[in-house]
Amino acid sequence: MNDNFKKIIDEIQILRQRLHREPELSYKEFKTTRMIRKTLEEWSIPFYPFQNLDTGGYAEIGSGKTLLYRSDIDALPIIENPDHDFCSISDGVMHACGHDYHTAIGLGLLRYFQFFPEKLNGKLRVIFQPAEEATPTGAAEVIKENIWNDAIAILGIHVNSEDTPGQFSLSKMAANGSNTTVEIHLKGPGGHTSRPDQSVDLILITCEYVSLMHSFIKNKIDPRDTVSFTFGKIAGGHVKNAIPQSMELGGTLRTHSNDVLDQARRLILKFSQNFATLHDMQINVAFPTSCPVAINDSKLVSKFIDYFSKQKDQQLIILPKPSMGADDFSFYLDRVPGLYVRVGGAGKGAAHTGDFIINEALIGPAIKHLTGFIEYFFRAE
Ligand SMILES: [Zn+2]
Ligand SMILES: [Zn+2]
Repeated sequence: MNDNFKKIIDEIQILRQRLHREPELSYKEFKTTRMIRKTLEEWSIPFYPFQNLDTGGYAEIGSGKTLLYRSDIDALPIIENPDHDFCSISDGVMHACGHDYHTAIGLGLLRYFQFFPEKLNGKLRVIFQPAEEATPTGAAEVIKENIWNDAIAILGIHVNSEDTPGQFSLSKMAANGSNTTVEIHLKGPGGHTSRPDQSVDLILITCEYVSLMHSFIKNKIDPRDTVSFTFGKIAGGHVKNAIPQSMELGGTLRTHSNDVLDQARRLILKFSQNFATLHDMQINVAFPTSCPVAINDSKLVSKFIDYFSKQKDQQLIILPKPSMGADDFSFYLDRVPGLYVRVGGAGKGAAHTGDFIINEALIGPAIKHLTGFIEYFFRAE
């Protein structure tokens, strides 16, 4: 067992390095898909491309009740720090969110159960999902594929630079935040800066709008609930002595509950309407994309913790406050109960930056414990 396990980990490490070297952007993961397909063919595991997408696909092993594992396979338009090992050779593209690990580990799970079929008391289907980082997101397409009818649960992971390799963190409720994009367009008549009284002093009014809306939302939402509403973009005006006719704001609205998300959206619309009337101006609000909250299934959370307790490895489990980051894994939870776990990787540099690095030492414990959990999951079913 040890020799074979070591062989699998060595193989997966090399695959991870290859994936890291050749990252591809969302919906363009053609080489990545070929690499996955070729690897699986070498192992004599059939690969099935998706019907509704040009990239990605799935593979499965075993028979009976089906557990899904989601690997996201896309990278980001980020320039990698050239001092890194196995640095990206794709210009301006980098696996800066760890999806190279998610993909390699997905392959590793299949490889493991190919070596140890007696440990798999069901069917494991690994989804290689394109475009987690994009909007519209890949999961919203994968959900339409014909791969869900026999599924009883889905497992998803994300590498986490805060914990050390071998640690696994999960939340008992929201695994992730929702992420709704917000676009706001404020319009006034414009005018000479000498006569703001005859116009709408749009830059001043926009500053007030942002600040008062935050107070309004804060006062209307139950203080026990969490809302993060933050703008990342403001644009408007280009002449020092002219009041602009339009200002644009762009941001994200994040919560840990879909009900709170609905409430926050209604509050933003109500406040904007009333504020516009007060100032004789127009405010248009749009929420062009939205990724729902991912809520972990409580039975799966208990099973995951039980597995570690039975191994006498409960010290490896961390139960942190839920993250406010979003992952389109949440789309799958409409179809099937799911569990989203963060896998410690003692990283350096922030995710989504050219400095992001995750420690390769995570691969061994990740494959050991995820396969151990999958074995336990089917035995407990
Ligand atoms: Zn990301
Ligand atoms: Zn990610």
